[in-house]
Amino acid sequence: MFSGNNVPKGTGSIQAEVYFSNKYKPLTCAPEDWIEPVIRDLRRMGLIREEDHVVFRSARLLKYANIIFDLERADALKTVHGYLDDLGIAYCGRYGDWGYMWTDESFKSGEQAAEKALAAAVPFSQERRVAGERS
Ligand SMILES: Cc1cc2nc3c(=O)[nH]c(=O)nc-3n(C[C@H](O)[C@H](O)[C@H](O)COP(=O)(O)OP(=O)(O)OC[C@H]3O[C@@H](n4cnc5c(N)ncnc54)[C@H](O)[C@@H]3O)c2cc1C
Repeated sequence: MFSGNNVPKGTGSIQAEVYFSNKYKPLTCAPEDWIEPVIRDLRRMGLIREEDHVVFRSARLLKYANIIFDLERADALKTVHGYLDDLGIAYCGRYGDWGYMWTDESFKSGEQAAEKALAAAVPFSQERRVAGERS
């Protein structure tokens, strides 16, 4: 955002996010229909000056974006995570942790899940010994 390295010389860029939810706030028009209201509000907020010329505009719909925190979240998480823990399944990331996460946090969450899985794994040599004892 605002970086001169992403755009032609003398211009800048802004990414704005407008959120919808089938349950709470359905999208009832084309994503492009939100471009003008967003530009209007960016001008109103002083992020774009009146004399600024917008040379390119584009809207993109990401069907699944950030997770939603509702009143059932805490209990639902306990149930789902408890079940996965019982099965020994490690979860991670925005959807696994069901959290509002940034990229670096998602990365760390993935690392932790991998470490958990590795710690729980039976080493290959031990696995062969156990198999040998069984036969
Ligand atoms: C609009 C928006 C703006 C953001 N801006 C920033 C930002 O500026 N800086 C920042 O640090 N973070 C930002 N984030 C957050 C960042 O995108 C996430 O934290 C990060 O991408 C989460 O990584 P993840 O691997 O957990 O999930 P994801 O990146 O969502 O990866 C999950 C993957 O699983 C795939 N998948 C889903 N279901 C299935 C299935 N059934 N089978 C196979 N594959 C499947 C998906 O296609 C996706 O590729 C933003 C997020 C959004 C939504």
